[in-house]
Amino acid sequence: MRWRNKGHEYDELYFQICDKTGFYLFGCGDYGRQFLKCFQNEVSIVGYIDKRLAECGYQMNGIRCIDLHELSLKEEEGIILTISQCERSGAIEQLEQYGYQKNKDFFLIEEFISVYYLYKYNRVYFLNISLLPSTVCNLKCRHCLNFNPFAEEFYVRGWEELKMDVDVFFRNIDYIMLFHVSGGEPMLYKHTADLIEYIDRNYGDRIGTLRTVTNGTVVPSDEILERLSRCRVEITVDDYREAVPQYKEQFDELIHKLDQHKVKYFINKVESWVDLAPEKTDYSYMTEEQLIRHRAECGQTWQELRDGKLYSCNYASYATVAGIAGEEDIEESYDLRSCTPEKKRELVEFRLGYTDKGYTNFCKKCRGFTAHDTDAVRPAVQVERNL
Ligand code: SF4
Repeated sequence: MRWRNKGHEYDELYFQICDKTGFYLFGCGDYGRQFLKCFQNEVSIVGYIDKRLAECGYQMNGIRCIDLHELSLKEEEGIILTISQCERSGAIEQLEQYGYQKNKDFFLIEEFISVYYLYKYNRVYFLNISLLPSTVCNLKCRHCLNFNPFAEEFYVRGWEELKMDVDVFFRNIDYIMLFHVSGGEPMLYKHTADLIEYIDRNYGDRIGTLRTVTNGTVVPSDEILERLSRCRVEITVDDYREAVPQYKEQFDELIHKLDQHKVKYFINKVESWVDLAPEKTDYSYMTEEQLIRHRAECGQTWQELRDGKLYSCNYASYATVAGIAGEEDIEESYDLRSCTPEKKRELVEFRLGYTDKGYTNFCKKCRGFTAHDTDAVRPAVQVERNL
């Protein structure tokens, strides 16, 4: 989205939110549960929409989950879309087919959280952020969203730089629902435990969930696991055993050790990945307006924190680091180091997708997370290339 009225882009949206007395959460997966954990004492939740859970008669907080077609939304009620980026575009289409309007009847989770807390309490709340210490990984996934197969070399950040990024982030942001330390393979980075401890010790009470991830093929030392077990962190263990069966033993050993050390974790097995397909996508023929629309229709919800700045799309910034997105997009980053309390609205607008340009250079080579024209691919398919 391109800035038109900096500092006031969300005035109208807040009025719409204020008109509502209760909200349905649409999507009871990861984001839905995290939203409840963080905000249920603040926001009145009147019901849950989730087709899969409705089919098995599941209840959340004593209320039966319903399918969208069962919903009869009252004028004073709204829907908060708590579906993550892969399925979000399809869910928006579905809501619109039922006649619900965006920013009137339904609200995106990240806009709801940030606008609500900013306008009501003058506080900066974010949905999520990705901090990437290194792209080093032992797997060679063809559809890696760090774009490792395209990179000349791995990218590794220094410990002092990472601490600086964390500090500057929390100087400007009051609360974040999900702080994600991503990779690469974080268990191969030598300061991952230091970083998790640092974040948890200094800012843990301002984070809904502190999370990191592993590809399930690397078993950290007992010392590292013991340190992680003392932090408020959870680990997503990606289950790629079908794609890389040669690591089955490591996977089993990792799970055993996580249990032994009482580290909080969950196993993540997905049927497919999204292929952003930079090698076969070319939208350079698009006009500025078309590119802005392509960016706005993309359901990606993540930004990257790096070098004291937020990058408006983390995939675009990973692509820049991998060398496939051209020059760094100056207009597409926001320098937290020069942010002041007077610029809170501008900061929140940037986090929600507003920029001077309205799209990234990489949008010209990226399919995005859209309902159409998106390839679902098998997870963790390996290529031969070594970095
Ligand atoms: S580069 Fe553009 S199209 Fe691709 S994920 Fe980012 S915002 Fe979406």
